[in-house]
Amino acid sequence: MKTLSPGPAVKIAVPAALLCGMVWSLWFWPSRFLWVYPASGTFFLWFSWYGEKEIKYLFLFLLTAAGFVLPKLSGQEENVYLFAAAAAEVLWLWLLFFALSGFESSRRSASEDLAAEESSAEEKIRALEDELSRYRMHLDSTLARIRDKGALSAAMQDMGLAATPDEVKVRLEALLGSYFPGAAVELRSGAPRDFADNWVAERKIPLLVRNSDSDTRLPKGFLGPSERSFMALPLHLFGRLVGFVRVAAPEPERFRAEDLRGAELACALAGVSMENIYLFEKVNELAIKDALTGLYTHRAFQSRLEEEVLRSARSKVPFCVVMADIDHFKSYNDNFGHQAGDAVLKAVAETLSAGVRDIDLAARYGGEEFALVITGSDRAQAAGAAENARRALESRSFSFGGKPSRVTASFGVAEFPSDAAAAGQLVRAADERLYRAKQGGRNRVVVS
Ligand code: GH3
Ligand code: MG
Ligand code: MG
Repeated sequence: MKTLSPGPAVKIAVPAALLCGMVWSLWFWPSRFLWVYPASGTFFLWFSWYGEKEIKYLFLFLLTAAGFVLPKLSGQEENVYLFAAAAAEVLWLWLLFFALSGFESSRRSASEDLAAEESSAEEKIRALEDELSRYRMHLDSTLARIRDKGALSAAMQDMGLAATPDEVKVRLEALLGSYFPGAAVELRSGAPRDFADNWVAERKIPLLVRNSDSDTRLPKGFLGPSERSFMALPLHLFGRLVGFVRVAAPEPERFRAEDLRGAELACALAGVSMENIYLFEKVNELAIKDALTGLYTHRAFQSRLEEEVLRSARSKVPFCVVMADIDHFKSYNDNFGHQAGDAVLKAVAETLSAGVRDIDLAARYGGEEFALVITGSDRAQAAGAAENARRALESRSFSFGGKPSRVTASFGVAEFPSDAAAAGQLVRAADERLYRAKQGGRNRVVVS
């Protein structure tokens, strides 16, 4: 707390003037000192109070001296009571002096206590402000992390929606681009092409260059001025290294370890998404393609048949089903083993699928039986296709147990809607004709 105090000149001038005034008045009226002295002394002490400690004591000394000298000057030296009264007045001034001193020191200690309290309160406020700013920083970084996680989960969903590996690459590039605004992102497929690729491939870990000016892992000058901050990451597919991802920025110290982890996660995510796409395609293919012959499965044939029935009924354009069965197939198995039988199955499948158009469908119906869907064709056109396939197979040369041999098949053709009004009936009709082809001596096409 600030005390208003007079200037140093005033502090000395006022008590000095009072002292002079007292001396002057007592000089003229020495007999009145008994009331002039204490009154002037009180004023004197009061005004001299703001002075330095030493000056206060000096004035007290002067007052005390005056208290003892003045009775002598009054011309009543024999009057003992006068001296006693003067001594009492001196005592009064002393008491006043010490009362003022006591009051001042208690005021000072109170103000010191207050100042101490004030400074400790200020310290506490500073500590609280520090804590608050630390908390704000923590809050900011937590919010940033939540935002990152939100962006990552959105990116995950986005990448999971990609339908092709190329789409995944585009999304990975976009994700890294949005993660590191202003940075250059590059995706490289295939084997390592330069020193950074090799560094990553050999160590099987990503590379983070915070500042290319001070980094010693890469050859000097390898990174250009636009790549002073640099990251290189591997791209894996089913555990195999299939490419690299690079992120570069011209300013140094742009990427932190956290950024590298984020980019690593994005690359892993892209790898998993691509693996999912491949696996999905594989599962799909397995469901519709026969593993041994590569032809469509029975299930794929049935669903195509249903579609064709609907399409043909709508368009009034007929289509045909051809059922084929290898002649005496059992004998290949029995005489030369199942592997030879499998080879025959593959060769027949090859011949059949080569004999149909892209819009048609060749399927392995089961065992050594095959089915063809000949789209937009009548029985004559389908019979022509079956006949071509029969001839192509017949003219193919095989070798069993070192002996040249031939493989033939029999065919039955049925047309929709003239031979049957539903898919099941159509297959049965074709099957019947196939049976008749067998009965008729095999290696032939039966159309009606
Ligand atoms: P046909 O001229 O009357 O058709 O005589 P076939 O011997 O071909 O007739 P059958 O239907 O009696 O024989 C079919 C044989 O096909 C029986 C089975 O051992 C064999 N087979 C069925 N599926 C496979 C397969 O995936 N691989 C092999 N190697 N043989 C198979
Ligand atoms: Mg059979
Ligand atoms: Mg057979």
